[in-house]
Amino acid sequence: MRIVLLGAPGSGKGTQAQRLMVEKNIPQISTGDMLRAAVATKSNFGLRAKEVMEAGNLVSDEIMIGIIRERLMKNDIENGFILDGFPRTTKQAEDLEKLLIELHQPLELVILMDMENDILTKRIVGRRTCSLTGKLLNIYFSNKDELTACTEAGGELIKRKDDNEETVRNRLQVYQEQTEPLVSFYTQKKLLEKVDAEGSMDVVYERLLDALKC
Ligand code: AMP
Repeated sequence: MRIVLLGAPGSGKGTQAQRLMVEKNIPQISTGDMLRAAVATKSNFGLRAKEVMEAGNLVSDEIMIGIIRERLMKNDIENGFILDGFPRTTKQAEDLEKLLIELHQPLELVILMDMENDILTKRIVGRRTCSLTGKLLNIYFSNKDELTACTEAGGELIKRKDDNEETVRNRLQVYQEQTEPLVSFYTQKKLLEKVDAEGSMDVVYERLLDALKC
């Protein structure tokens, strides 16, 4: 399975990709996670990326394609990969296509996680990660038991720096202007499949498996 999960911030790409990775044993390649790891090292690059991310803007195409090239050279993609958060611009999509031809690993499917804009904001602002398990949760939508299980076990519910209302507005606009054109890009290539991303995590996961026919 060589797929891209496409969708606005908050559409649940990361959560679904994480689950697919665990259940199908295929690596989730999240450029957002890779950038956050770079930020944590406090390197020069990490500090520059931090500023861009906290403003809700995109890191340059040149840097992103370099990061993804390096990642896709690793052996663990032999049985496929789930790209989560990449590509985000037409230039990234074009460069990815060339790279995957080079690697003889062309994309099989691009899933659009389809969701209305007004729900997206609440999904992003309420998003938390359990510091103990790394599990993605939401203070508005997750089961209360899951939320308290994390804190009662001594964990913290951590909010991403860029998950605040001002940044979210810009991130949604950036998505519309720079990433949404990929819907027609991949439709023309007959690779796009839409999945209704509204509903519980389990319901959406079932729809995703249907779309992936697995
Ligand atoms: P995410 O976790 O996918 O929402 O990504 C968080 C932030 O990392 C984004 O708002 C961007 O600033 C940056 N980022 C992640 N992936 C990309 C990408 N493919 N191109 C440019 N910037 C990215």
